[in-house]
Amino acid sequence: MSKVSCVIPAYNEAESLPHLWAQLEPVLQAYPDWEAIVVSDGSTDSTVDVVRQLSQRQARLRLVEQGRNLGKSAALMAGFAAVTGDIIVTIDADLQDDPAEIPKLVDELERRPYDVVGGWKQHRRDPWIKVLSSKIFNRLANRALKTNFHDLNCGLKVFRRPVVDQLDLYGDLYRFIPLLAVADGWRVGEVPVAHRARQYGHSKYGLRLNGAFDLISILLLTKYRHRPLHFFGRWGGLLVLVGSGLLVYLAIIHWRGQAIGERPLLIFGVLFVLSGLQLFFTGLLGDLIVQRKR
Ligand code: UDP
Ligand code: MG
Repeated sequence: MSKVSCVIPAYNEAESLPHLWAQLEPVLQAYPDWEAIVVSDGSTDSTVDVVRQLSQRQARLRLVEQGRNLGKSAALMAGFAAVTGDIIVTIDADLQDDPAEIPKLVDELERRPYDVVGGWKQHRRDPWIKVLSSKIFNRLANRALKTNFHDLNCGLKVFRRPVVDQLDLYGDLYRFIPLLAVADGWRVGEVPVAHRARQYGHSKYGLRLNGAFDLISILLLTKYRHRPLHFFGRWGGLLVLVGSGLLVYLAIIHWRGQAIGERPLLIFGVLFVLSGLQLFFTGLLGDLIVQRKR
């Protein structure tokens, strides 16, 4: 029977944690072997004390502390590094995810040939503007990557060990875990789960206006991570082609005796060729860096 490890990222969740633990502990106790880790992400309230108290009564609950607030991606990575289970569950500390849903996700992971199963907050209890913007983002990301996920950023997820060993989360990447996992070749499933409004404390992540940037970086990370030249080379090559076309045209005119020194086209032609070459060589450098890492 597999060991189940639960990772709970928590930034100033002192009020929620005792309630969460009251609901989570009985669920975990149904598994013969389990552990839970709260990662306090530089909390400045009494989160650390609350977890220490709880873990005095239950030795399977442990605390990992981050020296300062490094964000949810870093908190999850710290948790993944600290746990030893074959099945790893992540759940938010703020009670928005229902611990009672965990067995459903674990069952799906074990019964079906999945490596990751994510929750799908079918009826989301968040401010409408947040729900709407993430719907738009999900749709664009799905279309770009030819996937079909309803929910990318659910706090409740289960993973097989090798998946978390391979995941390299930083910055905002925790929002796109299913896409990163698919890009790594894992089989990713989705199960509808209940979602609840935040009762205590407040959300640490508001509306994000950088969605367009996120989309570009996720495209780069999932589609071109192992072949950067294909991305940069395409745009660089296009620029060089257009620029060269302009310069050839000007050369012909010049050859026929017309003055070209004052033509704006000359500046465009030179600029296109130079910036195109720059993009192209950036891609080559990218390829060298990717090769070195292997
Ligand atoms: N969290 C964290 N570090 C942060 C921000 C959030 O560990 O810098 C945790 C937080 O305590 C919660 C989870 O990540 O358990 C999700 O955060 P939150 O509920 O604030 O985000 P929302 O649900 O509003 O998107
Ligand atoms: Mg929340």
